[in-house]
Amino acid sequence: MEFIILLWIVCGIASAMIGTSKGYSGCGFFLLGLVLGIFGLIIAAVLPKRDSSQAATSTRTCPMCAETVQVAAIKCRFCGADLPPLPRPRTWQEDVERNL
Ligand SMILES: [Zn+2]
Repeated sequence: MEFIILLWIVCGIASAMIGTSKGYSGCGFFLLGLVLGIFGLIIAAVLPKRDSSQAATSTRTCPMCAETVQVAAIKCRFCGADLPPLPRPRTWQEDVERNL
């Protein structure tokens, strides 16, 4: 019996290690491995790496001082320079109007 409990705890620790290496909450994955045992470990192994590019695209570099500012910013918080608004992607409505 002790062996199974130990196996579950090992699965929890292994799941936590895999989870944190993929950018997820280690505590959550520890519980997942603890509850689901080997299945939690399998889930942690097959889950895709958490995409961190979302955070990278929410900032841009100020052309004046080269500091990182929010994409939506119109004024740099470091040097106070006016930032040009980013060209937003065309919507399908604009595509329709263009073709009329
Ligand atoms: Zn600036």
